[in-house]
Formats: sequence, structure tokens, C-alpha cells
Amino acid sequence: MSKIYLMSDALASQVAAGEVVERPASVLKELIENSIDAGASTITVDIRRGGIAMLRVSDDGSGMSPEDAPRALQRHATSKIRSLEELMTITQLGFRGEALPSIAAVSQFRLSTREQGALEGTELTIHGGELIDTRSSGVAAGTTIEIKELFFNIPARRKFLKSEETEAAQAEHQVRLHALAFPHIRFILRRDDRLIYDISPTQDWRVRIAQLSGEELAQKLIPVPCIQGHGLSVHGYILPISEARRTRKQQFIFLNNRPIEDPLIARAVRDGYNGFPTGFHPALYLNINIEPLLVDVNVHPSKREVRFSRPQDVVTTLIQAISQSLSNSVTPQKPPSTPRVAEPFALPQQQELLPPRPSMATSQNTPQVLRHADKDFSPLSLKKPLLPPILRAPQKELNQELPLTYTPPSAEPSIDYTSQKNTPTATGPTVGEFRLIGEFCKHYILWETPEGIVLMHMTAARERILFDQLTRQYEGQDIPTQQLLLPLVLELDVRDYNTFTQWEKHFKQAGFHLQSFGRNTLQMTACPAFLSLSNASQFCLNILDSLTSSSFTRKAKTLTFQLFAVEIALQAARQETPSLAEAPRILQALLNCELPYCTPQNKPTLVPFSLNEINRKFGVYA
Ligand code: ADP
Ligand code: MG
Repeated sequence: MSKIYLMSDALASQVAAGEVVERPASVLKELIENSIDAGASTITVDIRRGGIAMLRVSDDGSGMSPEDAPRALQRHATSKIRSLEELMTITQLGFRGEALPSIAAVSQFRLSTREQGALEGTELTIHGGELIDTRSSGVAAGTTIEIKELFFNIPARRKFLKSEETEAAQAEHQVRLHALAFPHIRFILRRDDRLIYDISPTQDWRVRIAQLSGEELAQKLIPVPCIQGHGLSVHGYILPISEARRTRKQQFIFLNNRPIEDPLIARAVRDGYNGFPTGFHPALYLNINIEPLLVDVNVHPSKREVRFSRPQDVVTTLIQAISQSLSNSVTPQKPPSTPRVAEPFALPQQQELLPPRPSMATSQNTPQVLRHADKDFSPLSLKKPLLPPILRAPQKELNQELPLTYTPPSAEPSIDYTSQKNTPTATGPTVGEFRLIGEFCKHYILWETPEGIVLMHMTAARERILFDQLTRQYEGQDIPTQQLLLPLVLELDVRDYNTFTQWEKHFKQAGFHLQSFGRNTLQMTACPAFLSLSNASQFCLNILDSLTSSSFTRKAKTLTFQLFAVEIALQAARQETPSLAEAPRILQALLNCELPYCTPQNKPTLVPFSLNEINRKFGVYA
């Protein structure tokens, strides 16, 4: 047996830091929570170089006395709970007394604080857990904590930090979460000495949402009336299914003002919508208040997960709150009964193909602002593509020769059940040895071949074709684009914007002409020719969404054009709704691809059923 040693305080703090301090955003979370707990009415956050070089949180809260300031930096020092009973009913955000010493152990840390009304303040400097300097000083009332060079003494941890852009986006997200949870506090955020926002206090949650996410989104919010019962209450705002997102990052759920990500709640929310399209998530802002006794927030060091003592009550109340507010909201913008996001294979809406209305011509020089939530109802979606998207077959010609349903040939065919080879008898458009029989379940096309039958998945086929086109164009540097009559302005979420800056080069290579247009907004002046213009903005937002998603970033170690093209092809194919008449061209293009039988993500595009196999199923043997 090896000998047991007691860890030094510094080491214990570094170990604890592993739990609390993961990256600049997690430091920020702890500091902002402390400021809120200290009763601040203004919180100012400064981050430099993603918060890795510097992060600073200043507040006008209670401040600390000269005696308390050094105590705050000892492990398990907290002013917030004294007993186990108090732990059970904690309403403050912090309570572990671990954050400050942990952060100070892995950074160059400076605390300046002065109690409200006190004459003198205190300034403490700690490097890597070691006290360097203590002095009295005439600082402003309240507390400022400045962290420089996070993980300077733990190179292994520092190496794990992502790019400055990514860290900054995560940090901004933290500030946003707290700004949403505490609308009565003024938040000022500066990044690399640039003011990002300065939002005034408000009692109205909708106003705070608008301050952070824009007025246009705020106008679509459906209020969730306050529903109470079982020791809890729920209220907030939700967005209709038509505003569904590909990731959960538009879900802001707070439990007693603490942002949480809980699978139980996420599921209840979906049920409240009476089911939600797979792969999409509702966008919402919900505040759940629960008696502290009925919930344990001490499950996870960063307190994002919670444990409810009566989970079923929470689920029932949530479902009720959401379904009630959806049925109350009878706005003219209510999504159609089969929302387009829900059905990637839905037929195109007729008006999308109509030419622009004459009245729109007058406003052509003003760029239209589209927020990320703004999609199908924009007047721009009525615009006709300037160039016909590639592969849109001239429907009339083909329709004439094609029966849309299977019509048996007039003469009774003599079927030789035992033959290994099929001899196509009926007529219909052919592509090589494939003869079109018809469509099945909208997205499957049935072909007859000498070997039997083949099912083609239209969307999967288009995915492969688009991918091949994109990569070929990339190699040849020849990207057919279509210019937009009116530039589109896309207003992005900080993280999406950050993703854009990382992939900017590839967007350009794929034929998207996007320029930065002020803070977190992009202006699009052209898009690849294969996209229908009515979808261009939503398309970009979806792409950014999936490129931002954690499952994608895990996959994508290097940001290659190939990876980008896979994503573009996938999204673009899902947005299309090719008709049966286009099937022969699609098959032709598919067969011209290098790997026609699977999508870039290895899903089948064509599935054959041999006559042999079919015969066997019917017990017919040659
Ligand atoms: P906890 O928040 O769990 O109590 P921390 O390590 O985050 O632990 O903080 C330790 C103590 O330092 C707090 O309990 C509080 O008394 C004091 N403190 C920290 N930040 C502030 C602040 N911004 N204003 C006033 N007091 C603070
Ligand atoms: Mg704390």
C-alpha cells in the first residue's frame, strides 16, 4: 500500500477547479452568479480574446469587508449557507464556496471590493492559488474580479480550450442566459473593448427577450400564462412549430432563475406541443418556479441538471402550460397543419413559384431584415428564382408521357414466374435499363430493371448528386451562383455568427456570397444556383445551426470543404420536393456520380429487389 498524503490546499483547489472551471464561460458563470447573489443591479462583463487572456466581472452589489475578502478565497468559504436545512432551501445561485478559490488556483486573479458605505476597499492578487499582494484601496463600491491567463499553470487544460472565437461565443451565451434570467439587472457586455450590448433593466420578460434576440422574434412569442399547481408554477413564452430549430440552443429554460438543461423537461416540452418533428426542437423561454424543497439543485457541480422529488408533477404542469398556450394563440401566422419543417418531403407550396408581386418592386433597394426565426412568411419567399434551379425538369413535357399512377398494360401479360430475368413490358420513361413504374409514399420512386425492381429514395439521391456537384465545382473553382435582386440580411445568434466566421471560406467556395453586415448580421447577395431563392436565408440558418451543433463539432476535427459539402448537400436535398416527373433526370444524374448507391453519409440511395428474391418470397422456385 502506498502512503496516504493530505493534499495541499493549492492542489485540492486545482483538483476542484477541474469540476467548476472548464473554460472561460464557466468562470464567467460563477462570477456572474456571485454578483447576482450580492444583489447587484448592474453587472459589467469584459472579455478579451475569448476570455482566455482576460475576463472581468464588475458589479455594484454588496461588496466585501476587508475581513471577508480573503475568506472568500478559502475553500468551502461561503456566506450563503450555514446549515443543512439552509442547503435544502437555498434560493441563491452559489452555495458550494468553491468557485473563487478554484478559479484563483488556475489563473492570475485580482479581486477588488468595497462594501457599500465603507470608506476603504480591499484589493487581493493571487497567482496560481498563491497570495501575491493584499492592499487597501479606494475602489468603487461593489466587487470587481479580473481573471487573466486562465490555466497559465496547467498547460494541459489550456490546450483543451477551443479557438478564441468559440470560447467567446460560449462566454457570450453565459451572459445572455443570466441576462434572460434576471431582467431587472442591467447587463453590459464588452468584447475586446467593443461594446456588444448595454441593456437596461426591465420588469417585462418580453422586453428583455427583445433586447437580446430582436424585436422581430419577440413579436412572434406566444405567451404561456402562469400555470400553478403541485408546488410549482410555469410561465414564459414559446414560439410556434414553424419556428422550430435544429438545435436546442433557442431553448431557454430556467428553474428558479437558474438556467437548466434537463432531459425530462425537454421531453415534457415536446409533449406539450403534442409531438414535435424529429430532428427539430421548439424555441422557447420558460421560467419554472418550484418550492426549493421539491428540487435538488446540488446534483451537478455546474448545477445545470437537477433532480425533482415529484418529476411527474413537473411534466404534467409543463405539458398543460404549453398545450394551453398553443391552443389560445390563434394568430393569422399559425403554422399550416402540416408544417414544412415537420415534413422534409412535403410538396412545394404553390405560391413559392409565383413571380414577385408588383408592389414589392418599390422597396427593392432596402435590404430586408430576416431574423433567424423569420422564414416562410417573409414576402421574399414569394420571389421566383432568377435562374431555374438545376434539375427542375420541364414538368409539362414529362407529365404528358408519364402516368402518375401505375396503369396496367392493356394486354394481359403472360408472366413467367420462374424466370430469373424480367422482361419489361409496359412503356414509360427509361434511363438505361431502368423503366419508371411510379412513385410510392411520395419520396420513393419505383423502377423496373431486367433484374427485378429498384426503389430510389429521391432525397437521398439528390443528396449524392448535390454533393458530387459541389465537390466537382470546388475542384474546378467554377460555381454557378444566382444573384439576389434584394440582398438578404440574416441576423444570427452569436454562436451561429462565430460558426460562420470559421466556415466563411467554404461558404464562399460553395457559392454563397455573404458579407459581415454589422454585429452578428450577414448580408447575402448571391447563393448557389441549385438552391431555390425562397429558401436561401432559412437554408443558411439551418446550415449554421447544424455546423454549430455539438455532434457536428465533435465529428469535424478539421474544417474541410468535404465536410461542409456533406452538410450543404444534406440540407439542400431535404428542402427540395422533386416531383415524379423529375425522377428520370435525377436517376440519370445519380448514375453519373462516382458512388451512386449511397449518400455521402453512407445511406442507400437505390435499393434493388431481385426477381429471384421476390420469387422466393412467394415460394416460387425456378
Ligand atoms: P459561493 O458562491 O458558493 O458562496 P464562491 O467561492 O463563489 O462561493 O464565493 C465565496 C464567497 O465570496 C461568497 O459566499 C460571497 O460571500 C463572497 N463573494 C463572492 N463574489 C462576490 C461578489 N461579487 N460580491 C460580494 N460577495 C462576493
Ligand atoms: Mg459562487
